[in-house]
Parts: sequence; C-alpha cells; structure tokens
Amino acid sequence: MEITLKGKVAIITGSIQGIGLRTAQMLADAGAAVVINNHTDQEELEKQAQAIRDAGGQVKAVTADITDRKQAGKLIQAAEELGAGPDILVNNAGGLIARVPTAEFDDDHFATVVDVNLKTAMLMSHLVLPYMKKQGAGKIINFSSQAAHDGGGPGAGAYAAAKAAIWTFTKSLAKEVGPDGITSNCVAPGFIASTAFHNVFTSPEVHEKVKEMVPLKRLGTVDDVAKVILFLASPLSDYINGQIIEVNGGLYML
Ligand code: NAD
Repeated sequence: MEITLKGKVAIITGSIQGIGLRTAQMLADAGAAVVINNHTDQEELEKQAQAIRDAGGQVKAVTADITDRKQAGKLIQAAEELGAGPDILVNNAGGLIARVPTAEFDDDHFATVVDVNLKTAMLMSHLVLPYMKKQGAGKIINFSSQAAHDGGGPGAGAYAAAKAAIWTFTKSLAKEVGPDGITSNCVAPGFIASTAFHNVFTSPEVHEKVKEMVPLKRLGTVDDVAKVILFLASPLSDYINGQIIEVNGGLYML
C-alpha cells in the first residue's frame, strides 16, 4: 500500500537539519506541500527548500523563532499560501541547549529549554487548531524523548522534564480536539546518531557504549524517526490518538 499525502499541507518546525529535515523530505516525497523552518541561517534553510523543490516537492521556507507568537504566525501564513491551511503539524523543534546540573540551576537556561521544547509545541498547536477544526481533520505530532523516561544524560534535568511535559500535553490535546477529528500523538526517540544533538553533547565513547546496549546493536537514524512521523501523518494511523510511540531500538522498554 502506498502512503500518499497528496493535497495535504504540513508544517515541520526546526527542520533545517536532522530529524526535522528528513521528515520534511519524506512528507514532501509522499506528496505533501511542506513548510520548513528554523530560527537561524536563512541561507541554509533556503538551500534545503531548493533541494526539496529539485526533488519535485512543494515547499516554503520560513525563518522564524517559533517561541515568539508573531513569528510563529508566519508558518501558518506560509501554510495558507500552499493550500487551505495546515493539515499536519510536526512539532520537531527542540533541544538540550546545554548540560546544566540542578546544582547549577540557571533561570535563563531553564526558561529557554521550556520555551523551545514545550511552549513551541503548545503555541504552534494553538495556531493550527482553527484551520484543523474548520476542516474537521488534522494530525499533530509532538516530540518527546527517551529522556522523559529515564531523566536523560548528565545535566539534562530541564530538558527531560520538558519532554515529559510533552507527553502529558499530547494526551491532554488528544482529549480536547479528538471530537473535532484531530489526532495528537508523540514520538519519543532514543539515541539518534548523526544529529546535532549528539554531535554536540555526546562523546564518541558514549556513542559506542550505547550502541552495545541497544538490542538491535545499532544507533538510531533520522530515517528511523522520520518513517514513524510519516506513518503518524498518514491515514494509516487514523485511529491512533494520544499515544507515545517509542523509537529506540529497544534501548528502553516500558
Ligand atoms: P536538531 O538540533 O538538529 O533539531 C532541532 C531543530 O530545532 C534545530 O534545527 C534548531 O535550530 C531548531 N530550533 C530550536 N529552537 C528553535 C526556535 N526557537 N525556532 C525555530 N527552530 C528552532 O536535533 P534533532 O536531533 O534532529 O532533534 C529533533 C527533535 O528530536 C528535538 O525535539 C529533540 O529534542 C528530539 N530528540 C532527539 C534525539 C536524538 O537522539 N537526536 C533524541 C530524543 C529526542
């Protein structure tokens, strides 16, 4: 069975690289018109948009800091320009920002982590809802993390807590907008290699150690996660709602 998203418009936040970019490419390959985004590096974002266009996709690139309501609105405007408005929202933007142990709690770091990982998902969901409610359909996909289960690595307290809050938000939203035909689900990636996240924050030794711990004996790839997003964005997942899908090769089992 072929997965097709023809006629759908998808917003993927923080999609200049990594899991977000691969997701945007896969959704575009499946026929969706996509809005890609990042808060920095407009030139690189345009370059990635052009590559999607060259592959036959329909895309708009929006440089915007989506912790800011006004800037986040630009993504909605781009989705309107591509079709009737957003049908799919992938709240991919997020990050650890820095490893800060609680003993060194920093107000600014905490506020940034919560804004980037939690506020962005809630604000973007708020902004797409009028369109999805009008259409009586929509798919919202949030990003949690294995860190939400196990607290993450050193100094990841704020990040892990924000990602756990994403779970709860996902379920709350599922109840709130289910009656409007909109689903809210969440992916929780494990250790996904070749991402800025682990390139910046994790040593090569830890990469090797974790690989040995994964029952599948390999680290995750951006494709592993993007394929699950494609499924959650497609009609194949129509009766899945309020769920957390673990993408970790068995590294952590509930
Ligand atoms: P990434 O850092 O490449 O992706 C996150 C993107 O969000 C970046 O491009 C960043 O610039 C963007 N972003 C941050 N703040 C933003 C803002 N205010 N406005 C717009 N864009 C903003 O890393 P990734 O590994 O591809 O992560 C994607 C998602 O997966 C994140 O939510 C991350 O927390 C989650 N995750 C990743 C892993 C992993 O192993 N890589 C594991 C668990 C969860």
